Amino acid sequence: MPAQRFSRRYLARHRRSAQLYKRAKKVTPGGVESNVRYFKPHPFFADYGDGGYIYDVDGNKILDFMMGFGSLLLGHNNRDVALEVIRQLESGSMLGVTTTLFVQYIEQIRKAFPSLKKVRLANSGTEATMHALRAARSYTGKDKIAKVEGAYHGAHDYVLQSLDMDGRTARRMGENYRAVPFGKGIPKVISDITVTFPFNDPDKTAEILEKNVDDVGAVIVEPVLCGPGVITPKRNYLKHLRRITRKLGIVLIFDEVLTGLRLARGGAQEYYDVTPDMTCFGKIAGGGFQLAGFGGEAQIMDVIAPGGGWKHGTFHAGTYNGHPVSLAAGLKCLEILRDNPGIYDHVNGLGRRLFSGLQDLADDRKIPAWVEYVGSIGNLYFTTQDELNNFRDTLNVNNKRWWNWFIHCLGNNVLFGIPNVGERAFICSEHTEEDVDFALEVADNALAAIGREVRRHRAKPPEVTVEAVKKQVAQYGQETPVPPHV
Ligand code: PMP
Repeated sequence: MPAQRFSRRYLARHRRSAQLYKRAKKVTPGGVESNVRYFKPHPFFADYGDGGYIYDVDGNKILDFMMGFGSLLLGHNNRDVALEVIRQLESGSMLGVTTTLFVQYIEQIRKAFPSLKKVRLANSGTEATMHALRAARSYTGKDKIAKVEGAYHGAHDYVLQSLDMDGRTARRMGENYRAVPFGKGIPKVISDITVTFPFNDPDKTAEILEKNVDDVGAVIVEPVLCGPGVITPKRNYLKHLRRITRKLGIVLIFDEVLTGLRLARGGAQEYYDVTPDMTCFGKIAGGGFQLAGFGGEAQIMDVIAPGGGWKHGTFHAGTYNGHPVSLAAGLKCLEILRDNPGIYDHVNGLGRRLFSGLQDLADDRKIPAWVEYVGSIGNLYFTTQDELNNFRDTLNVNNKRWWNWFIHCLGNNVLFGIPNVGERAFICSEHTEEDVDFALEVADNALAAIGREVRRHRAKPPEVTVEAVKKQVAQYGQETPVPPHV
């Protein structure tokens, strides 16, 4: 729970949301559509979105750096996209047979990502990674997959592995990386066929993949590790990974659901100049509508071509695949990005201004923090580290401090992400320098409040009670120093 003094203004400004939240909680688990939307003290309810802002049911105008979990590179309610959607609605929302729009869309996405020789569509990033992995397994005839510890690839069992864990579990595991399910309900056998390895460590990655080469058909990776926020690839890690997987004959899948069309039109593969065998895309690709897909080398993708029969073919389907409304929105978005390459200079420039500005503010206030960013994605970590290489580097981050900072900012109408598994902020084309400067002013006020709290704690150490020690032992393990939560 954020300290009350940090959430007071948020609570005062979101009374109607609080009422609606009470109502929602009665009829849906946790009162939210998706677990990651929940945050304490309660989420707020949106009325509508426009450009870089969300307007909520309490009449607040909130500067939005969450941007539909990164899907709204063009901002809320882009007029050109909306008009295409309306036009398509007049021709039928769900046709269920193949359309010209489908082919046009795939031709356009192939232009953005030249590595996509053949493509299939899906409705969410989750579906895209699930189907890509199946195709890769089918192609290689190997059952195991390998993923990076801490990486998020959607909500299916095969990838909800080693997404998060506490410091104690990580320390016990040490260098013997193994998959641990993210929560209950995931059969243990799935963890047994998942191999995990650390991001940004080419030697360990090579060692683990070599050891499992007989069983692992595919490596799936977020080219920028965003499961734990934002961790950029360092020291040519992606090129090393490309070399290792090529040598071992393992299919390399880039999950570009988040980075695709964001870091550059051609995603992280263009930005870092590394070509995977397969790519998953989503989010921005649908222009704010449900559209995702996967593709890559023709000989891999052809395993899902129909006609192989139930026994020899590889299945891919979906009632809403290639939904015309999503295609109309997605195609328009792709065209806008093709015709306006300046959008990337704009959002990346603002990203630099916002994220380096946040770092300077924290440094000026002598609050230990590290801002990791690339292009228009970034995150502030309250940590004493000044390099983050992998998921485990984020285990010592002071999440409570982040939460207090976040809710203080949101109480002043700036949304810096959602404080859940891996928070991060995104810039959209509609944000301006004035927006960023306003956000920095609000962020600085929150940092000032954090600074006061830090000094208060230093002056008066918290009372050590038996209960507090028991709680710490349960949470962090006996030998762990207590993080200076504020
Ligand atoms: N892969 C990555 C890298 C993602 O960031 C996400 C969503 N945040 C997904 C897959 C899953 O996408 P969706 O939520 O559309 O299922």
